Amino acid sequence: MAIGAAEIARILEAYPAVPAVGALGSHSAIDIADGAVTEGLASVVLTQTGRDATYARYFRTLRDASGARRRGCVDEVWDYPKFAELASPESQERLRQRGVVFVPNRAFSSYVPLDTIEREFRVPVVGARAMLRIEERSERENYYRLLEAAGIPSPRAIASPDAIDRLAIVKLPHARRRLERGFFTAASPAEFRTKSERLIARGTITADDLATARIEEYVLGPVFNFNFFFSPLVPRAEGLELLGVDERRESNLDGLVRLPAAQQLELTESERIPDYLVVGHGTLTLRESILEDVFRIGEKFVDAARARYPPGILGAFCLQTCLDRDGRPSVFDVAARIGGGTNVHLALGHPYGNALYREPMSTGRRIALEIRRAATDGRLGEILT
Ligand code: AMP
Repeated sequence: MAIGAAEIARILEAYPAVPAVGALGSHSAIDIADGAVTEGLASVVLTQTGRDATYARYFRTLRDASGARRRGCVDEVWDYPKFAELASPESQERLRQRGVVFVPNRAFSSYVPLDTIEREFRVPVVGARAMLRIEERSERENYYRLLEAAGIPSPRAIASPDAIDRLAIVKLPHARRRLERGFFTAASPAEFRTKSERLIARGTITADDLATARIEEYVLGPVFNFNFFFSPLVPRAEGLELLGVDERRESNLDGLVRLPAAQQLELTESERIPDYLVVGHGTLTLRESILEDVFRIGEKFVDAARARYPPGILGAFCLQTCLDRDGRPSVFDVAARIGGGTNVHLALGHPYGNALYREPMSTGRRIALEIRRAATDGRLGEILT
């Protein structure tokens, strides 16, 4: 059975007044740790052996003789042979003993099975535990259904390869690196067939994944990832905040678009097919006349999530959009948790978050601020699931 509010409330009874903030050491863990210590909370990062140096060495908290922070923001590093083991009963007990509230990032929901997170991980999760699953395109109850229910514009689905009548993007996992993408574009059924055959032969995708791939209209426009925050601790009208916007650098797509057309044409056919491996992020702001549209979409998302997955979205979430030629955002992906690109606003804050709070407000800090406020008011149960 899914872990419910009553069980989390019972676990919280044994927690200290001010919890520590935990996260899996990948994705956005530095932002989470940085935010935690800025708000005076201890940070605990759970690493996997061999992937731990970033946290255990380079961002580790170093203190002077008096105990004052000299450098770094990762207060404690707990290392595991495999990430999935952080959900073992012993590890859960240790997390509870330490009073950790856990901030889920995409690495957490990728390396720890969703069933385990929903039914067995008895550690308070900061945010909407039950909504992590909607990111899986293969699930019936996925984000497309939520977007549709909310009336949020998203790229038109194309029913089958034969129905491709314009530039389309085909979404499926990479054949070997299962957490990465094997996306490709095609503008006709014939192009779909040629490209998919080539990608299967190259070992980039599999025929099985192709059979269930999502095909959708390719929105020709810039990508804007909107990093929102929703607080249930304030009146509904004040609950939604836009903290900042990021964009991605994708390998080797970004390499390709930096080449002049003549040089692109000299590449081999295989080199011309872009990969969508996210390797970094940049920060953006939005033309002000489009902002209201973006808030409208955010509000619709909050309302639809509350209706479909009570208590709904809590804390950080990210709507990934392409802006069409008229500047209208079309949501092509949803993260019902901290987005992958929030490190761009580490410490300096997000442009819009800073405008709201009058001081640097990154997503990590906003999460920690919410935890601190809820703890002070005895309302932790309202932001944890
Ligand atoms: P995703 O895995 O859904 O986050 O998408 C990865 C990348 O594919 C995005 O960063 C975009 O560059 C691109 N993308 C996804 N969906 C679309 C779309 N419908 N139109 C244009 N580009 C898209």
